[in-house]
Amino acid sequence: MNLKALTSDQLLSETKIIVSEERRITAKLIEHLGEINQRLLFLKLGYSSLFEFVTKELGLSEGAAQRRIQTMRLVTDLPETRQAFEKGSLSLSNAAKLQSYFHAIKKAGKAKTIEEKKAIAKNAENRSQSQCDRMLFELSPELPTPEKTRILSPTVRELKFSVSEELFDKINRLRDLLSHSHPNATLAELMDFLVTGHLTKIEKTKGLPTRKAQTPGQADERPEEDRGESPNQKWTAKVTRKNPNKTADKNTDKVADQKNSESAKNLDETDQINLICTAGKTLPAGIRVSLPVQLKRTVWSKADGKCEYVHQGRRCSSRYQLEIDHTQPLALGGSNESSNLKLLCRRHNGFAAIQALGFAKMSSKMSSMRKRGQ
Ligand SMILES: [Zn+2]
Repeated sequence: MNLKALTSDQLLSETKIIVSEERRITAKLIEHLGEINQRLLFLKLGYSSLFEFVTKELGLSEGAAQRRIQTMRLVTDLPETRQAFEKGSLSLSNAAKLQSYFHAIKKAGKAKTIEEKKAIAKNAENRSQSQCDRMLFELSPELPTPEKTRILSPTVRELKFSVSEELFDKINRLRDLLSHSHPNATLAELMDFLVTGHLTKIEKTKGLPTRKAQTPGQADERPEEDRGESPNQKWTAKVTRKNPNKTADKNTDKVADQKNSESAKNLDETDQINLICTAGKTLPAGIRVSLPVQLKRTVWSKADGKCEYVHQGRRCSSRYQLEIDHTQPLALGGSNESSNLKLLCRRHNGFAAIQALGFAKMSSKMSSMRKRGQ
């Protein structure tokens, strides 16, 4: 099409038609996202969230994905907003702002009723983004401003969030207490110190390799159980310590005795883990038991601290809300041995249960997973 041949009136008229068409197509996309969310299709494909699916599978930018998903949730909750969106009186940005506001106000324990939401959504029509921001601020000035992250360079991000006066005071007190070891620490340096320390502690608890840097040529002085690079040695050592021929442990399981004395050197990692589990007591199948710490650590270590759900060669790898899953559910007689255990994010753990036990039994879990799908 030669645009230069159009009159100005024709150009304006066609532009308006295109804008209207764009809104209609966006509404259609939002409708499709709603159905994908309803079916939990993103979980089946190995994505831990609808947001990850939309950015990675559909290729939308993070901001575009966020606005469309938030609008989808608003339209699901308040179907009348779809019409306002399609006719252009409610913009995509403002629809997303409304949904974020409803979520934040609910989190603050002041959830709005459906009628209140309808009235607020109606009031947001035909407003610019800044007017909508102002309207929502005036409704709930006590709400913290939304957290934001922005990429500044390939290695630097800008984080923006508000903190209470109480937390700000704690930060300053901590900075003063650390002033000898970390003089003039910036907020970013303070955060690095706190996050790294906490991360190292939790990773150690979960059985993941610690982050302590090693100087070349320097001996690793960490305890053996902290090194994590040779799980076979670790397990063998523990089995050896439980060998009744060398210790006075009278409760050692007979199976462990036999395996220990006959073929400890030939055991693979799984067998060795089972030995530890059965050394104190045999873990019964089909019922939920408190898994031994060593076993939990091994499941975490084996999975490298990431979700192990795989679909057609694509692994989820989420680190969010990880749980130990029974491949064959306990409800179907699954065992508590390591061979039946894997690490899954909470959503894929729920999805695995749905696949194993059926949709009907898991309907309440599905509902919460759809809401968490972002
Ligand atoms: Zn997952």
